[in-house]
Amino acid sequence: MRYRKLVAVGILCVLPTSSACGPENDTGDPVSGLPAYTVTTEVTIDSPVFSRAKRAGKLVIGSKEDQPYLATVDADGGRSGFDIEVAKMVAADLGFSADQIEFRTVRTDTRESAIVRGDVDLYVGTYTMNAERMKKVDFAGPYHMAGADLLVRMTEMHIDGPRALKGKKVCSASGSTSLQEIKKPNYGAVAVELPSYPACVRQLLDEKVDAVTTDDAILMGYAAQHLLKTRIVGAPFTREPYGIGMKKGDQALRRAVNDALEVHRDNGDIKRAFLATLGRSGSPYAKPPPLERYP
Ligand code: GLU
Repeated sequence: MRYRKLVAVGILCVLPTSSACGPENDTGDPVSGLPAYTVTTEVTIDSPVFSRAKRAGKLVIGSKEDQPYLATVDADGGRSGFDIEVAKMVAADLGFSADQIEFRTVRTDTRESAIVRGDVDLYVGTYTMNAERMKKVDFAGPYHMAGADLLVRMTEMHIDGPRALKGKKVCSASGSTSLQEIKKPNYGAVAVELPSYPACVRQLLDEKVDAVTTDDAILMGYAAQHLLKTRIVGAPFTREPYGIGMKKGDQALRRAVNDALEVHRDNGDIKRAFLATLGRSGSPYAKPPPLERYP
């Protein structure tokens, strides 16, 4: 892999009065608090996916569209949220500006197939890195650590954690780690599987299920949408390291994406992006765990 960056930014960074780099630097949008990402020029990566994207002049990134503070789409098709910011900062380091990203919505249960088929070049959407998925796809990351939790109705008196789910109807999205978890016999729960989390939340409000389970980061958004009707139990019971999915075996691309995540973690962009998006839901920022640069 040859991955060259312009050194200009690096030179500016050594000047003590410089405002061109580092977490203190605020070149981002003062209203939204979102960082600005400098698009790297002359990027070369020995990767078929990257070469195709470069020829096409656009990077296709899969994401969610119905997860408030993480990835939502507005009426004009504009996307926003923490995952969207992570996608933009990585794309910038690969040489693609925000308007050279084509976002495609890919649901939880079709992520691996979308990546394997080449429908998307990268996938950034609350995507837990795990061994089972790594049989089909590769991951760069993690860039955030979440944990499965429970969303219940405000009036719920009994469910105070995963041990209180015996005989309870618990909804999650098809293909999710939370659905897999809640199906384990030790919980004794009745798993209800739907295509999306908003569909589960609807069922919760309609009293058709007793709880919704998925990552705390995702549930924060729904709890905020239905402030007086729902609440999060607040007892995370799994670890969900979020990674960026891509085709299996594309080592050069994976290294480049990991490099980008490292740069943006170290320069404070990930933290600032988090605080300007997911942080607004009440999720506390925690430094992401070390990158897993597996062989
Ligand atoms: N992080 C979990 C997963 O990747 C749940 C969130 C989601 O469905 O995207 O399965």
